[in-house]
Amino acid sequence: MATTDVIVIGAGPGGIRAAVEADARGLRVLLIDEQPTPGGQIYRALGENVEPPSGAVDILGKDYWRGRDVIDALRASRVEYVATAAVWTVEKQPLAVGYVVGERAFLRSARHVIVAAGAYERPVPIRGWTLPGVMTAGSAQVLMKSAGAVPTGRIALAGSGPLLLLVACQLLSAGANVVGFLDSATAANRRSALRHLPRALGAPGLLAKGLAMQRQLASSGVPTHRAVTKLACVGTDRVTGIRFEAGGKAGEIAADLVLLHEGVVPHVQITRLLDLEHEWYEPQRYWKPSVGSWGESSDPRVHVVGDGAGIGGATAAAASGRIAALDVAAKLEKLTTTERDRIAATLFAQRDRDLRVRPFLDQLFRPPPEICAPSDPEIVVCRCEEVKVAEIRACVGVGSNGPNQLKAYSRCGMGPCQGRMCGLTVSGIMADERGVPIDEVGYYRVRPPIKPMPLSALAALEIDENRAAR
Ligand SMILES: Cc1cc2nc3c(=O)[nH]c(=O)nc-3n(C[C@H](O)[C@H](O)[C@H](O)COP(=O)(O)OP(=O)(O)OC[C@H]3O[C@@H](n4cnc5c(N)ncnc54)[C@H](O)[C@@H]3O)c2cc1C
Repeated sequence: MATTDVIVIGAGPGGIRAAVEADARGLRVLLIDEQPTPGGQIYRALGENVEPPSGAVDILGKDYWRGRDVIDALRASRVEYVATAAVWTVEKQPLAVGYVVGERAFLRSARHVIVAAGAYERPVPIRGWTLPGVMTAGSAQVLMKSAGAVPTGRIALAGSGPLLLLVACQLLSAGANVVGFLDSATAANRRSALRHLPRALGAPGLLAKGLAMQRQLASSGVPTHRAVTKLACVGTDRVTGIRFEAGGKAGEIAADLVLLHEGVVPHVQITRLLDLEHEWYEPQRYWKPSVGSWGESSDPRVHVVGDGAGIGGATAAAASGRIAALDVAAKLEKLTTTERDRIAATLFAQRDRDLRVRPFLDQLFRPPPEICAPSDPEIVVCRCEEVKVAEIRACVGVGSNGPNQLKAYSRCGMGPCQGRMCGLTVSGIMADERGVPIDEVGYYRVRPPIKPMPLSALAALEIDENRAAR
């Protein structure tokens, strides 16, 4: 088997565009994704779904169907695409990616890796968030896209961010019974976002979409409360509603399903596993790998693109994927740097245009401190090991200064998700308890396997012949 030039991890718009561009430049490309179909979060299951005829209600919206071009480009390419393949490790010396497909595990070496692992929804640890009937807004959307399933019963949505608004509108278009929209964005957020508005006006299409969604929500008559605080899901065996405070008054909405959302954050498990440099992005309170304009990371053999390098949206992800692939092609001498720069110029311009709206959105939807470092001692933080806020704060009091020590003290972050769900909150709580910047506390040290896998698969690991021969 010839050596793979580049392995792309993640088949969202960023990863697909990177893979297709690298293929077009004559590189041998392997594209790996744990989902059964390509498209990532935004274009999930697009290849399986049928666009409604014009005039019919379009629940998922035009931005979804536009992804058809991305999927078609992958199908028309020579890229080797492996679906339902979860990356469980990336080895640095020599560079190789391990992935598991069902009962079989593989290790494939490559000259370059492009990480396009995207984003996931920030955990929203509030009272009652572990009750049956409480989900993230994105997971309700996953069901709509992949199974055509629309939730029944009374639905309340709470939190903030463009995806929360989008899901509310999609549910309304699907005829779901939305009984409340609780917006946690504060007046202070709105004020500080205003200074970024002139730049955001350079991407008027995105702002117009946001305003159209606000109008759809307003005209639906769904009770909406702004600047809510003290969110708490109520119920004993399952959720029966959500409590909140707004304008100094307490309120409660009875609901059968509560959808929480406070923005999305980059997937850093793979980039952490590779020990790449990371930086804290304060406006949205998340870590992201430090990358240059071509997506190049602190390891010259690894590029990071799309939302996994900082939240920028689908079209910016697609442009950054192509930009990184051009850089890799130049490094592997398939292009001169002059050719690379010439082809990339329009992509840079497109990405810059798409990103103009980000500082505005990032301030407007800045996550509330209480979500990032909850004070309520009874809130569960690590859902896998059921570790609560009180236990984490108590561990700090007896000398556990960072998330890695905390693992030993409490098993926090040692369950099946390997800290992916609780990592940000744990660092936030520890920084708050110690009264130091979050950078000083750091993040979990990530170790393989980053995804659950059968031990039998590991024992029978299939290693590509190029690597095995070393
Ligand atoms: C739940 C959710 C729903 C969203 N819905 C919308 C929407 O409707 N409209 C919109 O405009 N934006 C949406 N977004 C934001 C949008 O997804 C992104 O802006 C855009 O898709 C980013 O593209 P990307 O290629 O960087 O990553 P993604 O599209 O997220 O693709 C990343 C891919 O990497 C794969 N991956 C990650 N880790 C591994 C691993 N260890 N092994 C193998 N594969 C892996 C994932 O399966 C995924 O397919 C959503 C985000 C989330 C989190």
